[in-house]
Amino acid sequence: MEHKNQVFDNVLDLVGNTPLIKLNKIASKFKGDFYAKVESFNPGNSSKDRIALYIIEQAEKKGILKPGDTIIETTSGNTGFSIAMVSIIKGYDCILAVSSKASADKIDMLKTMGAKVYVCPAHVRADDPRSYYQVAKRLHEEMKGSVYINQYFNQLNTDAHYHSTGPEIWKQTEGKITHLIACSGTGGTISGTAKYLKEQNPNINIIGVDAFGSVIKKYHETRKFDEKEIYPYRIEGLGKNLIPGATNFDVIDEFVKVTDEDSAHTAREIAKTEGMFVGYTSGAATQALKQLGEDGRFKKEHRVVVIYPDHGSRYMGKVYCDKWMNDQGFFDSINEEASETIQYIK
Ligand code: PMP
Repeated sequence: MEHKNQVFDNVLDLVGNTPLIKLNKIASKFKGDFYAKVESFNPGNSSKDRIALYIIEQAEKKGILKPGDTIIETTSGNTGFSIAMVSIIKGYDCILAVSSKASADKIDMLKTMGAKVYVCPAHVRADDPRSYYQVAKRLHEEMKGSVYINQYFNQLNTDAHYHSTGPEIWKQTEGKITHLIACSGTGGTISGTAKYLKEQNPNINIIGVDAFGSVIKKYHETRKFDEKEIYPYRIEGLGKNLIPGATNFDVIDEFVKVTDEDSAHTAREIAKTEGMFVGYTSGAATQALKQLGEDGRFKKEHRVVVIYPDHGSRYMGKVYCDKWMNDQGFFDSINEEASETIQYIK
């Protein structure tokens, strides 16, 4: 959208059109050019602003939502924040059913953004009436004029990226992109962006990033859901213990798995080399880039775009906290002690 003197009607006018920023150091030992699509430039600091705005506006167009109605979702993460932000501007109530595992900080952030938060017990089965899935479903059924976003199984999540992230990257690279690297959680970002890019040039390589402990990569390779793949991991936002309906596996060429530890160190390295303070999954995506680079996958003429989904400020108690890194044993393998860079004057 063109705006005279950079004055905007409200924050929603700033959703999308995020910058593509060249990676100058972190991948310099590999051939090719590397760029990050930095989604923290969205007003809600993540790529989820795109889906919140798109899904809500589609519901408005279909006449499902009227001012004063309620929007419901099951997340304490970026999507919850973005839905709360869009709800404020557009005059909807926002209900978020979250797991009791969510940190107090996250719940406070959502409350600050005007959401009504239901905290549901974490260690119950998904079909238990107290689980956040069931609480959201029940509230949606009970409330007339409510919309349940259900991002893991909502095709509109994928469509949002088909209509925005894909065209933006195509334009920003002047059609020269050869590889896209993106984390897959709901799969909306990678599937929608890939569909658009492959329609422009079917030879573009689409590489998904998955976590060890998630079923997504194996499902892509075998089309079988293997429960044995599932175990706990720390990165939030990528991988899953179910097969999301929002993921279009046919437009993704391959998946790369990354570890919690490598991704954490790479996230910290992005800050130190590129001056970008981004989230844990940005570290994961860049870690996947490095693994592909080490395998000799990139050539001089390649233009690689990696998606950075959110901002580092959401991980202060985790990846950017030395105590947390130490507690995970992540400082064992390398000699990184950030405390060395702090001088206490007594
Ligand atoms: N990174 C972060 C931090 C996220 O919150 C998400 C969303 N779950 C993703 C990556 C993955 O995006 P998508 O759900 O579109 O696959």
